[in-house]
Amino acid sequence: MKCFDIVVRDDEISRSIQRRIANILIHAGWTQTCDVPDIVLSVGGDGTMLEAFHQYVGHLEEVAFVGLHTGRLGFYADWKPEDIDKLLEKILLSDAYETVEYPLVHVQLIMENEVRNYLALNECVIKSLTGTMVAQVSINGDEFEQFRGDGLCISTPSGSTAYNKSLGGAILHPSIEAIQVAEMASINNRVYRTIGSSIVLPKHHHCVITPSQEMTYQIHIDHLTMQNLKIDQVKVRMADEKIRFVRYRNFPFWMRVRASFIKE
Ligand code: NAP
Ligand code: MN
Repeated sequence: MKCFDIVVRDDEISRSIQRRIANILIHAGWTQTCDVPDIVLSVGGDGTMLEAFHQYVGHLEEVAFVGLHTGRLGFYADWKPEDIDKLLEKILLSDAYETVEYPLVHVQLIMENEVRNYLALNECVIKSLTGTMVAQVSINGDEFEQFRGDGLCISTPSGSTAYNKSLGGAILHPSIEAIQVAEMASINNRVYRTIGSSIVLPKHHHCVITPSQEMTYQIHIDHLTMQNLKIDQVKVRMADEKIRFVRYRNFPFWMRVRASFIKE
């Protein structure tokens, strides 16, 4: 029996769409009670997709994600409520889903007594709340720069339209298997020097950020925030895992970029 789950934003429209989808799928013989669903539908916005991703981050090989938006047009939530019937018909008719895979960022937080590993769908941000962040940045084991500023943002291609874009980073097509390191308000003068532009690292390259030990730091993994961390090192690279989205119609990435930022 096929299984689904719905992650929903807490508003009336999203909840009513959730009920409608659940009724149709259950009527068609699908179940909502299983540990690992075949399909996870996110109903809400891009933030809802981030929640869905982190809820099932341990099962990325089994789960395919679908995003329905009930606000403005999203990147991950690119189906409109009026498309639901068409979408469900396709889910119910197809034996094998056509899926598209997007790269993720792998983050390793190394602390005094603990090492934590995360996957990010949008980005990982490291920043200091108590003063200028001073950090040594190395790439593939070689020293690259001494960073001073507000922080650093390491994004996936599909996350490049989120925080990274606000920082002046480039938009990367998700078929490019790479991660982007963008600066947050770096200090550049005769004494302090950083590269100044964002850099794009290919698969198998890694970047290690070693912040000064005098401060505590804040780490964001997508919508999740961790405060007051004593951090020895943050290691980032493109993850081996990817997220799979169900692809039922052609809605090219650049048209999503246009619809969100230029003109619907
Ligand atoms: P939020 O405050 O609702 O997110 C900020 C905006 O980013 C929302 O409009 C959200 O869309 C949109 N968004 C999320 N992922 C996107 C993507 N991949 N491409 C384009 N737009 C995207 O908080 P949230 O919904 O929990 O999302 C967390 C994300 O917010 C973080 O991962 C980070 O990328 C972003 N953020 C941006 C800034 C900034 O630009 N200065 C600061 C903090 C966080 P929805 O309204 O559909 O959710
Ligand atoms: Mn949001």
